[in-house]
Amino acid sequence: RRSGSKVAAIGIDLDKFKEINDTRGHAAGDEVLATLSRRMQDCLEADETVARFGGDEFAAAKRFEDVTQLHDFIKRLEACLHDEIRIDGYDIKPGASLGVAIYPQDADNLEALLNNSDLAMYRAKDALTERVCFYEVSMDEAARSRRLIANDLWQAVERNELQLHYQVQKSVNSGNTIGYEVLLRWHHPARGTIPPSDFIPIAEECGAILPIGEWVLREACREAATWNNEHKIAVNLSPVQLGNADVADLVHRVLLDTGLSPHRLELEITESTIIGDKERALQTLRRIKAFGVTIAIDDFGTGYSSLETLRAFPFDKIKLDRSFMSEVEASPEAKAIIRAILALGQTLRVPVLAEGVETRHQLQILLDEGCDEAQGYFLGRPMPVERIRPDLATGKAA
Ligand code: C2E
Ligand code: MG
Ligand code: MG
Repeated sequence: RRSGSKVAAIGIDLDKFKEINDTRGHAAGDEVLATLSRRMQDCLEADETVARFGGDEFAAAKRFEDVTQLHDFIKRLEACLHDEIRIDGYDIKPGASLGVAIYPQDADNLEALLNNSDLAMYRAKDALTERVCFYEVSMDEAARSRRLIANDLWQAVERNELQLHYQVQKSVNSGNTIGYEVLLRWHHPARGTIPPSDFIPIAEECGAILPIGEWVLREACREAATWNNEHKIAVNLSPVQLGNADVADLVHRVLLDTGLSPHRLELEITESTIIGDKERALQTLRRIKAFGVTIAIDDFGTGYSSLETLRAFPFDKIKLDRSFMSEVEASPEAKAIIRAILALGQTLRVPVLAEGVETRHQLQILLDEGCDEAQGYFLGRPMPVERIRPDLATGKAA
């Protein structure tokens, strides 16, 4: 403050560090941290500092007069962080996301400065094209709004603001209803209906997904147990729920409490669920499967190691991501991929369900290609249970 110069705080978070640990081992992970630390230390000039905060998080600071000096520092840091590291004959490409906040314009105290550099760093992490982001006031507002939503989420169950919608899943060949996917809706008293793609990530971040996920499971099982048919219900399971050791116990308890037959429950998980702590996740899934509950892999084809995931666990269903369906009519490539996945499913004896079927023509393609099941607006939109119940009662497909 006395010198009148500016200070930049730079939050640094390594990209894919977990992946390096998982695939190359912790010794290699340690070496990456040590090498990057050394490189950054060696590139420092006057009025520059770098430190490790913990895990794969670092922070740097620079006092400067002219912003070109700051840009020069960032460039040097980036070179340190992005150059390859050779370990055991392999080249590892590290990489990092950087967030910058500047005193005094972005914050006038240390805590706020670091906090704002973090906000900018998270933005850089989310952005596909930018590795460095500078703090902007709007980031604060976005973070504040996320915090408010997180607060409200914790009370959403008690306040009866959550509702389940059901979307039909049908056999492509016979047109018969096989079951329903359960999709969560949140009617916020002030903000209106918030889509799950907006609030589920926040619920996962703040932990509210645990009580909410339990409510979804219990409510869906309780509902389905009253139906006089054999239709299944498919419930989405968050990676955070699976990371919690009790989820197999929870499923067991809910089945007992509601009296739903285990074979009528299917859990949908995405690949990201298994990639985290793979062994533990697979063990939990095996326990759940032993009850007779089936497990589907959701949004298949969008992750980066789908084939490995299929080998790691005996899934009961492959749900082909809806992005393939939306392109199938125009793109021969999308059609070729669908065909290949159907062949894979046949060989592994795992039925394939195509998501996002919106037209008669798309359904016809699936029929021609021998796809087992389908789901999408053309067959039925997600709707409140009252709208599917009458059909269920007469045994007719919804
Ligand atoms: P998902 O599990 O892949 O669910 C399918 C999504 O595709 C749903 O979006 C559904 O409304 C939408 N959809 C279905 N048919 C069509 C179609 O023909 N065209 C298009 N464009 N979209 C279609 P929704 O309900 O917004 O849910 C989004 C995501 O939120 C879900 O993706 C799921 O990952 C997550 N989600 C929803 N409910 C829950 C829940 O209870 N727990 C957890 N953990 N996640 C949930
Ligand atoms: Mg799903
Ligand atoms: Mg899906």
